[in-house]
Amino acid sequence: MAGATQLSHQVAAGIFAIPVPIPYPFKYVNCYLLLPGPGSSDGPVLVDCALDTAEARAGLEAALHEHGLGLGDLERLVVTHHHPDHYGLAGLIEAQGPTVWMLDVELERGHIFWTEPERMNQMGQALFHRHGVTDEYLADLAGEMDKTRSRVHPAQKPHTFRDGETLRLAGMRYRTVWTPGHADGHAMLLRESDGVLLAGDQILERISPNIGLWAYSYPNPLKHYLESLEKTAALGASVALPGHYRPIQDIAGRVAELRAHHVERLQFLLQLVYDQPQTCWQLSLALFPGNLNLAQRRFAWSETLAHLEYLVAEGAVKRLEQDGIAHYSR
Ligand SMILES: [Zn+2]
Repeated sequence: MAGATQLSHQVAAGIFAIPVPIPYPFKYVNCYLLLPGPGSSDGPVLVDCALDTAEARAGLEAALHEHGLGLGDLERLVVTHHHPDHYGLAGLIEAQGPTVWMLDVELERGHIFWTEPERMNQMGQALFHRHGVTDEYLADLAGEMDKTRSRVHPAQKPHTFRDGETLRLAGMRYRTVWTPGHADGHAMLLRESDGVLLAGDQILERISPNIGLWAYSYPNPLKHYLESLEKTAALGASVALPGHYRPIQDIAGRVAELRAHHVERLQFLLQLVYDQPQTCWQLSLALFPGNLNLAQRRFAWSETLAHLEYLVAEGAVKRLEQDGIAHYSR
């Protein structure tokens, strides 16, 4: 591995991006290593940590090794949100000494997804069923979720911060910014000295982050996300360092594109909702046609549900229950 290929690269003063391989279409999650300057008494900090596969562990450890560090040398691991590709290795890293930190909201609403698997699986299955997911899919989804759970080790003694709090990380001051939508307790970190924004999955370069309604999420995540987009643009950050793909310089421009994308999807969905009531599952097949794998179908369904419930809250679409199944119509 040594030689020409650098496993981490500097993206801002004292911040190194570590692209860690993940078994998802993104291919990589960006973990960020914050290194203290000379003379600082603070230790290094890692932001986000991939999920537990042999490849991810080896990749992360090799990249830290470039800086003469092991996982046990980290002072803290800060996670932007609880999704497996950002949080999966947290418990294993914590066991080597670093403390694990997340927004208080994410502890209550995201971390519990991993620590209360039976309740979460039950709630999830009930929501899938209520919104028209067929039994054959439900069985396959359960198997898929077991696999994901085996790759996620939640922190045993997580620490929390609050929205708007200033954290000292690797000798620098970072303000925490709560941006619900992609996850209820999604948080970004804004470096006060130069406006570098550790953005998690709030904005991404090539794709629109999944905004899904899940059994354990707020009832109208798209509304939260659109508000969080405005909050993100208003920070006036100098660069966004996202959880996937490359840094984003034109943050306001990307926010405008993402907002326009959701407006367009809402309009398209409105055209699909007729007088004839349909389930979210049926509508998701029309909104996301084509051959999607099981995980992608699940995301398409939850994204459709988030958009449908946004339209219901706006009074543009009606939801009716028929034999315990929700149907949407004009
Ligand atoms: Zn995520």
